[in-house]
This record gives sequence, C-alpha cells and structure tokens, in this order.
Amino acid sequence: MNLPITVSSTFVGVGELADGGRGYGRFSNPTWDPFEEALARLEGCELPGLLYGSGLAAIASALELTAPGGTVIMPAHTYQGALVGAEEAAAKGRFDLVTVDIADTEAVLAALAAAKAKTGVERAGILGGHPVVLWVESPTNPMLEVADLPALVAGAHAHGALVIVDNTFATPLLQRPLDMGADVVVHSVTKYLAGHSDVVLGAVVTGDPQVRAALHHDRSIRGAIAGPFEAWLALRGLRTLALRMERACENAQVLAERLAGHPAVRAVRYPGLPGDAGHARARAQMSGFGAIISIDLGPAGVAEAVVGACRLWTPATSLGGVESLIERRRRHTAEPATVPEGLVRLSVGIEHVEDLWADLELALREAPHQH
Ligand SMILES: *Cc1c(COP(=O)(O)O)cnc(C)c1O
Repeated sequence: MNLPITVSSTFVGVGELADGGRGYGRFSNPTWDPFEEALARLEGCELPGLLYGSGLAAIASALELTAPGGTVIMPAHTYQGALVGAEEAAAKGRFDLVTVDIADTEAVLAALAAAKAKTGVERAGILGGHPVVLWVESPTNPMLEVADLPALVAGAHAHGALVIVDNTFATPLLQRPLDMGADVVVHSVTKYLAGHSDVVLGAVVTGDPQVRAALHHDRSIRGAIAGPFEAWLALRGLRTLALRMERACENAQVLAERLAGHPAVRAVRYPGLPGDAGHARARAQMSGFGAIISIDLGPAGVAEAVVGACRLWTPATSLGGVESLIERRRRHTAEPATVPEGLVRLSVGIEHVEDLWADLELALREAPHQH
C-alpha cells in the first residue's frame, strides 16, 4: 500500500543507475520513484519524470539544455523566478535571452527565425545543447495570457528549437504539452501537484531519452535533489489532484463571472470567461480553465486594502494549495512594470464557493473608493 520513506544517503552495492544499482543518494532514492512515474503517466509520457528540490531547481536544470551562446526565448510574463534566473544567466554570457508576448504567435515565430539566423545551426545533439530554446508558460503568471501551443511547437520545431513548457498552472489534468509536441515539461510541484502548501519541490518530464539523461546528469552533478519526506508528501498530495482541481476550477469559474460584474473590479483575467482574450485557445488546448484569476483593482492602495480586508482568503504568495490565497503582485519589486499596479492574483482553493465570495465581496465593499 503505502511505500516506506527511504532515508539513506547510500545504497548497498556499487555502480550508478545504469548498472541497476542505486549508488549514492544524490543519484536516486526509491522514495522519488512512484512520484516520478505517476507524474510521467499523467503527462502521457513513458519515461519517468525527474524530481528536484524546487520548481526553480527544475527550471535551472532545464535551462542548462541550452547550448553555450545559444538563445532562450521566454514570455515577458514568465514566472518571476524563472525570468530572473534566465536574465542573470544571460548577463553572465551563458546564453542570449529574448522576451516575447507569448500570446502573439507571429512575434514568437519572428523571434525564433531571428534566433536561428543568428546561430545558423540546425538542431544540435544534446552534448552541445540546443542552440535555440523556446520557453513557454501558458497560462502565464500573473497575466494569464494563453499561448497557441500547437502553433508555437510547430514553428519552433521548424526552426530546430527545443520547446520547454512550464505546466504548473494547468497541471497535466488540464493540459498535456507533450501530447501537443512539446519536448520537455517542467513543474513547480510545490503548487497543485503536491497541493497542500507543505513542500517545495519541482519536476521535469520528457519523452526524449537523451534529454532525460542530460537532465539526470545535471541533477546528480549540481545536486538539486528532493528530500525523501517531501517526495512522499508530494505523492500523497497527487492522489487527490483530480478532486482538488475539479473543485478549485469550478470555484474559479463562479468567482470570475461574479467579479466580472462587480463595479469595483476594472478587469478580470481568467481564460474561462468567454470574453477573455485567451478563451478560444484555452478551449482548444485545455480541458479546464484553471483556478488562478487575476483582477485589476486600479490604484495599488485600493488593491492592498482589498487584500488586507479579506478574512478567509490568506494574504500570501504562492498558489495551488487547498486554501485560497490573495496577493497584489507588484508588491514584489522584480515584477515586470507591464503588470498593472493594482493587479491582484487569486489562487482559488477548495473552500465553499459562497464562503469565498462572501469574503471577497465584503473586502471589495470595505476597501476605500477609487478616485
Ligand atoms: C512557483 C512556480 C515556479 C517555481 O517553483 P518553486 O517550487 O517555487 O521553486 C515556477 N513556475 C511557476 C509557474 C510557478 O508558479
């Protein structure tokens, strides 16, 4: 039934995984295996995934797939930590970084063509890394833009680029990028997959054995591994992913519709709203619209007041847990200036939707009026 938690830094026998042995605790741990296999199945992948000590550790490892001097194309609204990491790597000369509006397919295709022309190389073997990497997040954080995944994958592959998709917001239950041709999927397991705000973990899934071997090597050498207890908790969380997502998405749809009709809310960003710019794409490539809503409340002060007036919604960063969280994004100084000052991100949890609405409604009513 439940597997034991293996707390050992080394294993009897010699050799690494290649010899059928476990070797040392930085190469493998039996407690990682069931989660790595389950996540891969959910993503429709034969090869087991790879668990990492955090989502950003997984992202850093995936970015290492880029050839030295290559180009990484990223959405301007990529998850903040991923963007900062890529900017810093670019500043050190590791690769060139190009940011794009990921919802603007033509702009992304143009960036791919320019990157390929610059490197002048066809898709290289894994040893040299990939000259061009297209990094996709969809829906994006926190603007919830929706990328046209099939079109971007086709365009990227036509230009010899490797396609990596951060699937944290959607989870494999709502979106399966590998089925749409993407090469690699990354996750912050911290969020929906583990689902209880009690672990920080990440994962990568790929169906390409060479890419997986390169990632496993990188994880082993740079040591960004998961603790066995965290891995065990993540597997426990994964068991209820379907139920949690179903409830959270239902709640989000109801709340987004009501917020769209609220006079204090200037704009609602949620792909489940028929009027949302990403709605048609989300319908075509996702089996649900997710449980993150962003609302624009105008001035920063008003947004902060609403966040502060909530009682049931917890004012905290992060997302994807059973409890609902609320946060004004621009309170983070590294958040791009293209994110409105008064943008508040809601991570909708699994509480009763009427309790969530009552609390939000009261907070919106109590907040000072906009001038
Ligand atoms: C949280 C998050 C990350 C980073 O993951 P950590 O587990 O916090 O390191 C990456 N991408 C997205 C979309 C996230 O929400």
